[in-house]
Amino acid sequence: MFGRDTLLQLLDSIADPTGTGSVVATARASGLVAKPDGSVGLILSVDGLTRAAAERLEATITLALKAAEGVKTVRIIQTAERGTAERTDAATSAITGVRRIIGVGAGKGGVGKSTIAVNLALALARLGHATGLLDADIHGPSAHILLGVSARASATPEKRLIPIEAHGLKMLGMGVMADPDKAVAWRGPMIAGAVVQMAQSADWGVLDVLVIDLPPGTGDIHLAFAQKLKPSGALVVTTPQALATADARRAVALYEQLGVPILGVVRNMASILLPDGSMAWPFGPESDPGFAERVGAELLASIPLDPAVVAASDTGTPLATGPVASALDAIAVRLAQTLDL
Ligand code: ADP
Repeated sequence: MFGRDTLLQLLDSIADPTGTGSVVATARASGLVAKPDGSVGLILSVDGLTRAAAERLEATITLALKAAEGVKTVRIIQTAERGTAERTDAATSAITGVRRIIGVGAGKGGVGKSTIAVNLALALARLGHATGLLDADIHGPSAHILLGVSARASATPEKRLIPIEAHGLKMLGMGVMADPDKAVAWRGPMIAGAVVQMAQSADWGVLDVLVIDLPPGTGDIHLAFAQKLKPSGALVVTTPQALATADARRAVALYEQLGVPILGVVRNMASILLPDGSMAWPFGPESDPGFAERVGAELLASIPLDPAVVAASDTGTPLATGPVASALDAIAVRLAQTLDL
């Protein structure tokens, strides 16, 4: 069981982002209340902090307090000279310590969704954001292969999964579970429950953003993602071909129906650089005026088909440079602005 003094001690170990002492010493955190039912509350002054810094600090404090035995909920009221904004630990995402969640979806398989999800997470990490990756493609996990991870996730004594650190990311997924074949016989609702549990019970620490590689199509996992995890938005990956864009449009429509903002559509494998230096467009013309209309969302980027990506994926050594990495870097910069990372 926790006491107020224990919690104060925990708070006192958290530095004020202005670098002038602990959040207790600077009185940035005050008014700590701890009730016997496990609810804890405090006031956080966010004066002089950017919104991103304030959210990061709130996530750090929430995580630290929730680690104390017996603490069930943490309610933080942010105050600023310009006014008071009440926020709770559920105000950012529905995973403790994680500020933003974005999903990467697709209408159908094989369009490069996992490749984009993994490389986008890497691009966000390259920008300096604390980034996690959850492979929610239970039946066809591939993030661990793309990242060259062969280790299995371990758990804390409280049975919380510990994400695996690879290439500057914290990652989890069925591919790093003790028995990766176990999910093969699971049915929809069971899988969705397992994904939500994996996401929420993992020990992610403080993350600016968690990228979730969703399964293709629209099913129980997508519903659970939208309704239980409080995502900030979703990207939809498609090849330019009409055969794929029709399914991408359905995926876009589903997310919109579930209230998940569409952050944009990524047109993957759009072009290929030929040995003579010219560009070819295997799935349709470069300027395809009907594309946005067919998918029902804004085009975020066109990613070339690059054989180097295939080699990098197969060897588990993701590329940090080259045309695909730079296209993903540009998406990451744009998302960081949209999501205020
Ligand atoms: P999905 O998750 O949609 O099923 P994957 O990410 O597994 O698709 O990609 C399908 C195949 O296409 C893989 O062999 C992958 O290496 C390849 N691929 C995806 N995007 C690109 C790209 N931009 N350039 C070259 N190959 C790609």
